[in-house]
Amino acid sequence: MLALIQRWLPRALRRPTPIPDPLWRRIIAEHPFLAALNTQAQQRLRLLCTHFLLEKEFHGANGLVLTDTMALAIAGLACLPLLHMHGVSGEPVRDPLKLLDWYGDFVGIVVQPGAVVARRKTTDGAGVVHHYDEVLAGEAMDRGPLMLSWEDVASAGERAQQGHNVVIHEFVHKMDMHDMQMGEAPDGAPPLPSGFMGTRSRAEARAIWRRTMQASYDRFCEAVTMAERFGGEQPWLDDYATKDAAEFFAVTCEAYFVNRTRFALEFPELMPLYDGFFNPGIPR
Ligand SMILES: [Zn+2]
Repeated sequence: MLALIQRWLPRALRRPTPIPDPLWRRIIAEHPFLAALNTQAQQRLRLLCTHFLLEKEFHGANGLVLTDTMALAIAGLACLPLLHMHGVSGEPVRDPLKLLDWYGDFVGIVVQPGAVVARRKTTDGAGVVHHYDEVLAGEAMDRGPLMLSWEDVASAGERAQQGHNVVIHEFVHKMDMHDMQMGEAPDGAPPLPSGFMGTRSRAEARAIWRRTMQASYDRFCEAVTMAERFGGEQPWLDDYATKDAAEFFAVTCEAYFVNRTRFALEFPELMPLYDGFFNPGIPR
């Protein structure tokens, strides 16, 4: 009830429950890429998490009982991409809590014990309806709740080597959806900060983004096809990234945040792009 009242207050007046030190240290220790952040970044992350936990409602599904540790792990991973970003309108932010507006279109986070099977339906060009099952470790809906598989969230520390992180994946989808109109689908091109990569206009920024992403996506798809057809080496990262531009953006962002060193080797063309989006304050 208190949390509900607090949510109605402006952020500056809210008094969220502080995160206990032992709990915070545990979350940092379990995730090497969080432990690698400097003290200032960790403090900023902790502040964002404190308010994130107040703003969001967590629900355990199918008998899953959510603990504070579980909610904090999700908060920590969800807030990591926000750390150095500009605001949703492309402006630099003085108050870091403004960054939570990137996730302002929803409140509910549903946590499943493991991956779930979703029944899907598509209609092909001939008008034939196809039904198929899709196994989901997470799902983000525009202006709707976000679903995560706890099994996948819990393995985030170990799977950083492979560049995998389901929480970052789904929250990056939310960023991608931010400038969407009702009924549109995410396209792997989020709203970019002003002055993105030294550009003078939004159109120029968008053009650089799309051109670079398309070339990188094509190269990745080709590598996956080569591996499948001719038994070549499987490229690093989940081939789910070949599905479309939005999935390519989400999958590559996972790696950018949890294994930056390998990501820089595998996707050098995306480094300046993602640095420009997630960390526009760095002079370059
Ligand atoms: Zn996805």
